[in-house]
Amino acid sequence: MSNAVSERRAIAPQSGKVDLRKHETRTERRTRAGAIAARLAAVYADVECPLIHQNTFELLVAVILSAQCTDAAVNKVTPALFRRYPTPQALSHASSADIESHIRTLGLFRAKAKSLKRCAEQLVQQFSGEVPSAMEELTTLAGVGRKTANVIRGHAFDIPGIAVDTHCRRLARRLGLTREQDPTKIERDLGKILPPEEWTGFSHRLIIHGRRVCYARKPACSKCALSSLCPSQVVEAV
Ligand code: SF4
Repeated sequence: MSNAVSERRAIAPQSGKVDLRKHETRTERRTRAGAIAARLAAVYADVECPLIHQNTFELLVAVILSAQCTDAAVNKVTPALFRRYPTPQALSHASSADIESHIRTLGLFRAKAKSLKRCAEQLVQQFSGEVPSAMEELTTLAGVGRKTANVIRGHAFDIPGIAVDTHCRRLARRLGLTREQDPTKIERDLGKILPPEEWTGFSHRLIIHGRRVCYARKPACSKCALSSLCPSQVVEAV
């Protein structure tokens, strides 16, 4: 079964179950979103950024490398990569072949090596070797879309941002917080119902919850702390 089909089944309201999305006013949805954010904060109180980094440049490199990869796989290759190329200047002078040799175990390594080199060149040529904080500037960098930019802004600059990856997208839809498919529209919907001070932590914890509990194929609803707030809870037959 494709992920898309399994996801549709998982989010279909159960027979006779109230679909919260149909009866909710915006105020009610805001209240429920706040309750979801509070529960996630309680469950994942001590969760830090899982990508190992010492500075904003290393975080940027790690987030670019994490596309379609596990954080653990990224953390295995970055120590040697950061030792060899500790600055944007150093990375901008690297050969693509050498970058590739450091990240060969990651998916899409050739495209990622190209993005890293180009991104480093842009940092040196256009931003004096510093990672910018503005969304409009970050998203001009190779390998950086809104999701990556929001991670950087939230974790490195303490600027609120909602990072919508595949987990955040799936959970926001299952939780009835958006009906959109497009990440930018999902970011906008979540931004309307949560205060800015919640944005970074909420999306980060939602992603973790998607990895640990609300799986794409078979969400573990019986173990989920959000089940009483979720219109898509799957009740297992006894
Ligand atoms: S109850 Fe929890 S695990 Fe189940 S669909 Fe909702 S958020 Fe996902």
